[in-house]
Amino acid sequence: MKSIGFVFHEDYVKHDTGEQVYVVGGNETLNVGLEFENHFRVRYIKEMLEKSGLLAKMKTFVPEPATDRDLLRVHTQRHIDNMKETARKGLRVFGPEAYGCPVSEEIARLSAGGAMKAVDIAMDNEVKQAYALIRPPGHHATSDQAMGFCLYNNVAIAARYALDVYGLERVAIVDWDVHHGNGTQDIFYHDKNVLFISVHEDSYFPANTGKIEEVGEGEGEGYNVNIPLPSGTGNAGYQYAFEQLVLPILEKYEPQLLLISAGQDPNCMDPLSRMVVTREGFRYMAKVVRELAERICDGRLVILQEGGYSLPYLPIATLGVIEGLMDCEADFRDPHSVPERPVTQELWEAIFACKKIFSQYWNNI
Ligand SMILES: [Zn+2]
Repeated sequence: MKSIGFVFHEDYVKHDTGEQVYVVGGNETLNVGLEFENHFRVRYIKEMLEKSGLLAKMKTFVPEPATDRDLLRVHTQRHIDNMKETARKGLRVFGPEAYGCPVSEEIARLSAGGAMKAVDIAMDNEVKQAYALIRPPGHHATSDQAMGFCLYNNVAIAARYALDVYGLERVAIVDWDVHHGNGTQDIFYHDKNVLFISVHEDSYFPANTGKIEEVGEGEGEGYNVNIPLPSGTGNAGYQYAFEQLVLPILEKYEPQLLLISAGQDPNCMDPLSRMVVTREGFRYMAKVVRELAERICDGRLVILQEGGYSLPYLPIATLGVIEGLMDCEADFRDPHSVPERPVTQELWEAIFACKKIFSQYWNNI
């Protein structure tokens, strides 16, 4: 079994996103419980890793908060001031579908700091691979706006940190969160030093982003790769997309560091998606990106927690990711049985359409 780094801070549970309240019949309200992105997510994942015995085999690191200088590599001063001011006033809404509490700006810095700590681990010659169990997530946040549970864009801050501080020239981000990583796309749209590949559910969230035609602009043209998959794609379909597109493009780009926006929300029980990926599917994705990192970038791999909202299944899906990273299978039997989804004609056509566009930039894929 391989050892990896584990980045976590106890304060991540303090980011309180409040409750979901519907307005019904004009002025009646219906409270339907905690917001999807709540503190139980990281608690349950951590407990699963502890009780399965895997956490004891990892090396644990506690991050520091990101400084203004770190955030400014990606975000505007106006955005940082806006986040601070929203927290200071005790407001709940930090941006469209982005919620928090008075300490959320500080915890969001700690989340970005967790992503940077994972880069430090990957660039260190000892461990080289790290999983950061961080929240709030980041991939929807643009340089100037919080959005979709995300305040600061953790993976983008980590990528720029790696370019600036470690002097790298090619960093790749693979985003397997079920939602499109619009914030990350936006930040690196003109940048060839960061290859961004997003695999997501087609035409879902955010509306109107994540199309295959969004390929980047200027120097960044060709370095933004969107792979929208049809609803209902399962393990076999994800494997097909990785084999046909994600892995060959990464091989050609030859990144010096590989970052994963690991949202485990394509899972088969997630309330915010309609995909059918199980523990085995997540284990496969983590395994192949680890093997690729070992082959092409000296093993340097960072896995950052993004979404994943089924409280019963998120710990199982994430266990799959960690098993793929550590090349092991934990002593846990998944009590849920999910029918396997084959590669459908619709999926085959989606991948074919991607290939037609991407082959302009990436030969022979
Ligand atoms: Zn998501």
